[in-house]
Amino acid sequence: MLVDHPGHWMVSGTRTEENDYRSWSVVRKPDGTYWQVASMDFFPRSGGTLKVQTGDQIIDEEARAYCEDVYARWLKKSAEERAAMMEPLFGNLTCEICGGTMTKVLETEAVCTQNETHRRKLKENVSS
Ligand SMILES: [Zn+2]
Repeated sequence: MLVDHPGHWMVSGTRTEENDYRSWSVVRKPDGTYWQVASMDFFPRSGGTLKVQTGDQIIDEEARAYCEDVYARWLKKSAEERAAMMEPLFGNLTCEICGGTMTKVLETEAVCTQNETHRRKLKENVSS
C-alpha cells in the first residue's frame, strides 16, 4: 500500500524466467488497472515517503493477469500473516459461560462460537 496514495498498491517482483532477474514494479490503482512506474522518488522534498510517477497503462492482457495474480497472492499472504499474529491473542479465548471457543468479531469484542449471545469485551489496548 502506498501511504501517500490511498487505495494504490505497488506490485513488485523479480522475473525468474529466461535468466532475466530484473526486478519490476507496477502500480495498481483503486479501479484495478495497472500502470508502469515511470519514476520513483523516495522521501521527496514535497513531503511523504514515496512519490510515484506512473507511465503507461498496462493493457497487455497477459501482463495484467500476471500482475493481478501477484497482487492476489500478496493479499492472501498478508491476510495469513495477520491471522498468525492474532492467533496467540485470540486463539485460546474461551467462553466464560459455556466454555466454548470465542472468535473476535470487532477490535474490542469476541463472540462465542456456540451461542452468539455469549459475548466478551476485550481489552482495548491489546494491539502490538
Ligand atoms: Zn458460550
